Amino acid sequence: MKKILILFLGFLFLLSCNRSSLQLSDEETIKLVFEEAEFSNESYEILRYLTEHFPKRLACYPQGGEAAKWTKSIMEQMFLDNVFLQEVDVMNWKRGEQEIGAIKSNGNAINVNVCALGRGIATEKAGIEAKVIEVNGTEGLWQLTRDQVQGKIVFFNKAMNPALENPFQAYSEVAGQRFIGPVLAAEYGAVGAVIRSLTTSIDEFPHTGTTQKVENDFTVPSVCIATKHANLLSNMLETNPDLTFYFKTNCKNLPDTVSYNAIGEITGSEYPNEYIIVGGHLDSWDNSPGAHDDGGGCMQAIEVLRLFKKIGYKPKRSIRAVMYMDEEISQGGGKVYAEQAKRNGEKHILAIESDRGVTIPLGFTIDASPEIINKIALYKKLFEPYSVNMFEKGYGGVDIEPLKEIGTPLLGLATDPTHYFDWHHCGNDTFDQINREEMQKGAATMAALIYLVDKYGL
Ligand SMILES: [Zn+2]
Repeated sequence: MKKILILFLGFLFLLSCNRSSLQLSDEETIKLVFEEAEFSNESYEILRYLTEHFPKRLACYPQGGEAAKWTKSIMEQMFLDNVFLQEVDVMNWKRGEQEIGAIKSNGNAINVNVCALGRGIATEKAGIEAKVIEVNGTEGLWQLTRDQVQGKIVFFNKAMNPALENPFQAYSEVAGQRFIGPVLAAEYGAVGAVIRSLTTSIDEFPHTGTTQKVENDFTVPSVCIATKHANLLSNMLETNPDLTFYFKTNCKNLPDTVSYNAIGEITGSEYPNEYIIVGGHLDSWDNSPGAHDDGGGCMQAIEVLRLFKKIGYKPKRSIRAVMYMDEEISQGGGKVYAEQAKRNGEKHILAIESDRGVTIPLGFTIDASPEIINKIALYKKLFEPYSVNMFEKGYGGVDIEPLKEIGTPLLGLATDPTHYFDWHHCGNDTFDQINREEMQKGAATMAALIYLVDKYGL
């Protein structure tokens, strides 16, 4: 009797397993994914730990590599089929001591919040002080003569346009002043460059980012300045054009160093050499805990694997969570990943990146052929219950971009961009700016699409 009971219970168990992993409709499986994501806080808590224990994890800093090793250990605890690190050579820029900046006018010095730009150079030990010439972006500088600029500090004060609906467009319109501003200023004979932070919020955080790397002779020391203090400097220049600006930077460009991509995989049951990858970049700026940019995107990638394990879905193809290293300075992690994939003959049928803030998911921007875009857009109906409606041509992501060379369709998770640049590259990108439900919904959105592509191919 006991034997029969055990057999019967075993049969019921098999029945329930089949129900959870094999016999559900696509609608039911996707519902299960969203429900499981909604009720879990595991990845959210892992993000809390990452931002608290590994803030300022610039790729070339020790905490960048430590964060990668820790992330590997987190994935090992999930009993994935394969977890490994991938060595990446990364540019080695060190900020050194905290920068200082001040507006000096009529015998008064007003301290302002400034921050060196990645790959920027140091001032001389005592810092530099000079008169200021304000310009409206790089185009403003083109209109000046060398005589007007010689010996001064160029103040690039073009603001991001808050009226544009897409803040990413507003960002790209003014990012040139940060990237090539210091080099242009040097060409005009300036001694330094101060760049308005790239954000629409008026705050006291300097928002950093990379600037073009050239030999010391062809650029000048530079800092970004908090928007609140950029406005102050601009206003003071109107009443006193002869005021001076002082700043001191202590950064160094050193020989390359080593860090790591962290990768976790559920190996496919039918096509193990076909890969679908999802990821973000693990490095952050060194003035930031990097919660939205991009610790959140990384933890969403891990969440995708966790969701599959939790609902008992066994993919046909191999699914990888890839946490890239060094998106912020030289994008080395993405390049190394693509090179290895090519060398190993791995067929990557889809790559998704989440690196636009882990806010409410809107859908996907797709960088692929029209045929592939149409195929993916056919799934739109299945996402309607979750208000995920965007399936359109667009950008994939910085880290997955190199996979284009091997023909991989690229998808960027599109999220509500309204506040992204309030957090971007500054000390305001903290864990308390993360909404757990929004982050989880983003992970579920990616998991649902991966499930469909895994099941039906592309
Ligand atoms: Zn990012």
